[in-house]
Amino acid sequence: MHEFVSFWGVAESWIASCVVAPALASLHVAPTIDSPDEIAQYFLITAVQVMIVAFVFRPMESLWPVETWSDRRITAIDRSYTLIKLFGVLPLFTYLVLSPLTSLFGGGNGAAGVFSVQGWVPWFGHHPVLLFLAYYAIYDFVYYVVHRLQHSIPWWWALHSLHHSQRRLSCWSNDRDHYLDDLLEALIVAAVSLLIGVSPTDYALLVLSGELLQNLDHANVRLRFGPVLEKLLVDPLYHRLHHMRVDTDRPRLHACNYAFIFPLWDILFGTALFGEPARPTGVGDPMVDADNGRGIVAQQLLTLRRFWGAFRCRAGWTPGDVAFNENYVPVPVADFDLRQLESSQIPLAATQSPVCGAEPTQ
Ligand SMILES: [Zn+2]
Ligand SMILES: [Zn+2]
Repeated sequence: MHEFVSFWGVAESWIASCVVAPALASLHVAPTIDSPDEIAQYFLITAVQVMIVAFVFRPMESLWPVETWSDRRITAIDRSYTLIKLFGVLPLFTYLVLSPLTSLFGGGNGAAGVFSVQGWVPWFGHHPVLLFLAYYAIYDFVYYVVHRLQHSIPWWWALHSLHHSQRRLSCWSNDRDHYLDDLLEALIVAAVSLLIGVSPTDYALLVLSGELLQNLDHANVRLRFGPVLEKLLVDPLYHRLHHMRVDTDRPRLHACNYAFIFPLWDILFGTALFGEPARPTGVGDPMVDADNGRGIVAQQLLTLRRFWGAFRCRAGWTPGDVAFNENYVPVPVADFDLRQLESSQIPLAATQSPVCGAEPTQ
């Protein structure tokens, strides 16, 4: 243990002085952010997380799979998403956007937020573990609300559907997201975190510790936490049900299990689904399922097009389940035969629904 601690310390200072400090100096951002040691610590924790996914969760998928696949080729893109997000997008966001914002609002320590939990309940100052748990609960609840909106507002679903289009859900699928979706989500969650007094470093820790559970929850692993624990903590079957393809016989069944960490939010708001067997994952809408034949750049660009098709239409702002026609205009599910769309895999024709901003063509 002693060797491990000293190895960790040596690795941290080496990364801080030889990688982080020169990189920050060349970016001219050093004065606005946390110390190179904290950034080095972030990268080390992230490397450990990726190793846990690669060397623990991934072998579990081979030993106890829910679905047996002939090959895993379409899961490789999700691994790239994970590496890009953890080693690039997330630290850049935390240290280039969040830290300057925090200093602007005069904070960074736990009591600085406008609605600081510690300010309201000073007792938490002497109970840091409970304070972190309180942050965790608020953070997870905000995620739950954002996730409900990602599914119910069609323009937001246009972005979030990239996360759902994967038909081979694996331990790498958690970070398969559109970057605009990531940015919106992170800005909302981070803003609330800052308001309640979470420091940027604690925020990065909240994100990282939540990430590991979510990596496990996307894994293709036959694992349930049991009748009691599954109500307290999201397990892989619970989140797999959230990713189910629409069941045309029970068309609202998939509107379930939005919580990321604590199923409590689903239980409280009537969206929890327990006791169903695992089902095929993905999205039946052919315009969304087409993501699976694309690389990261094409996925990002065409999802942006899908978003814009919805964003500029009134239908894109009307809550409810939609599919996208061949012009990326959202069409409410009540306006077409869902069963036929699912089985034919032919996108809805533009003539089948109103052209955005105009009357229906005959
Ligand atoms: Zn979702
Ligand atoms: Zn997911």
